[in-house]
Amino acid sequence: MTSRPRSRKPSDALARYRVTEGRGFRLADHDPAGRGHTGLTKKTAPDLLARGTQRLAELQDMLYAQNRWAVLCLFQAMDAAGKDGTIKHVFSGVNPQGCQVTSFKAPTSTELGQDFLRRHMLALPARGMIGIHNRSWYEEVLVVRQHPDILARQQLPERVVSPRIWRERLEDITAHERYLARQGVVILKFFLNVSREEQRARFLKRLEEPEKHWKFRPEDVSERRHWDAYMHAYQQAIRATAAPHAPWYIVPADRKWLTRAVVVSAIVEALEGLGLRYPVVDDAERAAFAEARAALE
Ligand code: ATP
Ligand code: MG
Repeated sequence: MTSRPRSRKPSDALARYRVTEGRGFRLADHDPAGRGHTGLTKKTAPDLLARGTQRLAELQDMLYAQNRWAVLCLFQAMDAAGKDGTIKHVFSGVNPQGCQVTSFKAPTSTELGQDFLRRHMLALPARGMIGIHNRSWYEEVLVVRQHPDILARQQLPERVVSPRIWRERLEDITAHERYLARQGVVILKFFLNVSREEQRARFLKRLEEPEKHWKFRPEDVSERRHWDAYMHAYQQAIRATAAPHAPWYIVPADRKWLTRAVVVSAIVEALEGLGLRYPVVDDAERAAFAEARAALE
């Protein structure tokens, strides 16, 4: 059996975003604006986010002290969906010593010469740590799928490149995530679901505001041509890899305050289900404490 965190009764608000069984999953059923989300407004969201980040900080302190579980939060999205801002806000209260963010860009020539999981494995969190992956191994069935030249640069022997390659990669990712879960890695996968129209508006904003220019790349606009193919690839990836031990969260990303509130709530809920606690000292250690106190006094 795959080990997985004891799950608490899922709160209704989060259940609609969590996918633990891929069969029949349809991206079209998920509204990027999250219009069905009730009970939260732009005005009340900052308070929820503040309470969430505070609780996350407390849980992370115990996670680190207990040193058993590792937590991997993986973020995937189309450009300008708000990965960076979400990471910045959601983890703002977390002790930097207990977490590590890795952003996966286009692979270097050294990385292209290695199996695709390797660079991601090197960045996995150790026990007690939270690893935040800004893009992930899923790029291998998303961007690479749209661009045959990237696959060609991977220098794979012809015999292992078949029309089944994307299905095979998804099988390998599934097996790898199951292995990690069995090793006590809690895997939470976030797809920030931005609409094509909202992406357009955000790109225009990046072009208008000089402080946002650095975020803009003309290639991002040409990538919009592949929008439907990307959505299809995301849907297939989520169908193939959603599992109770490695759930996907389809997070509405057209409204940033909702995105952040959903992500922090999902992480808090998952950590609450782990039974985290500070290690307790035994009698012998307590006796040593008494001696230490006497010496100090
Ligand atoms: P932003 O949303 O702010 O633009 P970003 O995550 O897109 O942030 P960039 O530096 O703009 O960061 O882009 C990283 C690029 O690296 C993306 O275009 C992504 O598709 C690409 N990339 C990531 N992993 C791979 C991979 N395995 N193979 C090829 N390209 C990849
Ligand atoms: Mg980009």
